[in-house]
Amino acid sequence: VFASLEGPEGAGKSSQINRLAERMRAAGREVVVTREPGGCKGAEVLRNLVLSGAVQWDPRTELMLFAAARREHVVRTIAPALARGAVVLSDRFSESSRAYQGAARGVGTALCDDLERIACDGILPDVVFLLDVDPVVGLARSKARATDSTMFEALDLEFHRTLRQAFLDRAAERPELFEVIPSMDVAATADAVWAAFLRRFPQALPR
Ligand code: C5P
Repeated sequence: VFASLEGPEGAGKSSQINRLAERMRAAGREVVVTREPGGCKGAEVLRNLVLSGAVQWDPRTELMLFAAARREHVVRTIAPALARGAVVLSDRFSESSRAYQGAARGVGTALCDDLERIACDGILPDVVFLLDVDPVVGLARSKARATDSTMFEALDLEFHRTLRQAFLDRAAERPELFEVIPSMDVAATADAVWAAFLRRFPQALPR
């Protein structure tokens, strides 16, 4: 099973991915936790290139750099893990490109679709957990722990409103792919993610 967690900064993706991984490991599954941009050596190099803030990338360039990083991530990390039967949990994947570059930065969905096809070659999540949070709440959380990877838009409320709507619209378009999980406290959110996972993949865990 390949699952991605999506949402804005401050949605709690990394705590949730760790909780989900713990539960799966406790149930006896091998789990590979990974992230985008990144997830392998080459993609981490590209992550720094994109997120360091040293260059203001044209949005389409940014999309292509993320797609290049995704290609490395798929080939080096995700495909081999799936091939040996591991569960793969990725903190962000191609839905982040649709929302950030496609919608919020205005590149459009057609290019996102094309680049996803080129980069992923059919290796796509079986389920996307969208952690949905009001931008005012999400921004307050991410401000509290601003890091190097927090990009310049981190404090821009309008940007985050567009981003949230883009994620929600896409989830409404692809209900068979998305589980929209409202961001609650960490434990309640983790329970909701776990319940949704078990509902979708009742056979995924060894008995
Ligand atoms: O997942 P995390 O919040 O650490 O993401 C790192 C940064 O990458 C975020 O600031 C986000 O804005 C940015 N990002 C992006 N486009 C993507 C994926 C991530 O702008 N496709």
